[in-house]
Amino acid sequence: MVERTVPNRTPCVYHTVHCLLGFTCYILKTTVIYKTCEEKDLKMLLLGIESTAHTFGIGIVNSSGKILANIKDSYTTEQAGLIPNKVAEHHQHVAEKVLQQAFQEGNVGWGDISFIAYSAGPGLDPSLLVGYRKAKEWSEKYKKPLVGVNHCAAHLSIGKLWNKAKEPCYLYVSGVNTQIIVEEGGKYRILGETLDIGLGNMLDKFARDLGLGFPGGPQIEELARKGNYVELPYVVKGMDVSFSGILTKVQQLRKKGLPQEDLCFSLQEVCFAMCTEVAERALAHTGKKELLLVGGVGANKRFGEMLGIMCTERGAAFYNVPLTLATDNGAMIAWEGYLRRKESGDINVRPHWRVDEV
Ligand code: AMP
Ligand code: MG
Repeated sequence: MVERTVPNRTPCVYHTVHCLLGFTCYILKTTVIYKTCEEKDLKMLLLGIESTAHTFGIGIVNSSGKILANIKDSYTTEQAGLIPNKVAEHHQHVAEKVLQQAFQEGNVGWGDISFIAYSAGPGLDPSLLVGYRKAKEWSEKYKKPLVGVNHCAAHLSIGKLWNKAKEPCYLYVSGVNTQIIVEEGGKYRILGETLDIGLGNMLDKFARDLGLGFPGGPQIEELARKGNYVELPYVVKGMDVSFSGILTKVQQLRKKGLPQEDLCFSLQEVCFAMCTEVAERALAHTGKKELLLVGGVGANKRFGEMLGIMCTERGAAFYNVPLTLATDNGAMIAWEGYLRRKESGDINVRPHWRVDEV
């Protein structure tokens, strides 16, 4: 007779309980590992190297956006403008000193640093190469991964971080660049820009004519305080602006003997009004409620005042950044490096890298 086997349920219950326990342990373990990675991520320290143009800067930023150090040494001249090879010599000369000062200010050393971010472009080849070579040298010596970033994107990111802005319209006005930018689907889109030179470079050129040295923007701002208005061309073409004709006109008026103060005042009024008009059109077109001014020219008080008035009138928020973060600096490169740490690496230098190509 075939004995009927009664299924023994006990092992089955044990098996189920065992499986459940195993699964719970697995979940707990992965959560702990994930949490530990997240915490480690939060504790990351990034070192950023800026050297696209006049400034050699090193910033140290942690992964929650706290700036521990932001040291810079900028090339200046009493009379002439920005001479690329001289700028590169300057950067080479100050690099180690700036690094040590940054470590001192941040109270950290190489052992604390997770990545080295460097500005890969756009910029002047000789300056970019000094920064890149330093980044490579330190990366190899101290075994730190490299993250090459776009300098313009770094200006935008630090402004957004500083102001806790959500979805701003960016007005980026530096030496080389004058652009109105928005972010769409993770990419930057330039809505309008200068058709010739950047506003900062134009101010620097005129300052050189006046024998004011480099950088000229702050000196022009000072002179403008005592000036009266003289008529200058106003050149806005759709969403774009153009400054070279205005420069020619102020140069002509200077030769005719018009007071420097009047020329500086009028130059600021006209150029800032042009940028304000384009920024307002961008806000109206995109429906955005935040305008963020970044780049060195953004340090100008009158510029901020004009944009602030325009934003108030249309119910938008106006943001800018303090002087140390407006002009080129290493902290913005470190922060952009943190944001791009998973997608970028050693990308050499890219002197003509536009922000809409990032
Ligand atoms: P960046 O390339 O972003 O470092 O900006 C440098 C440019 O900002 C130079 O062309 C400077 O002349 C300009 N700049 C700095 N401070 C001022 C200011 N207060 N007013 C106007 N332009 C300025
Ligand atoms: Mg810049």
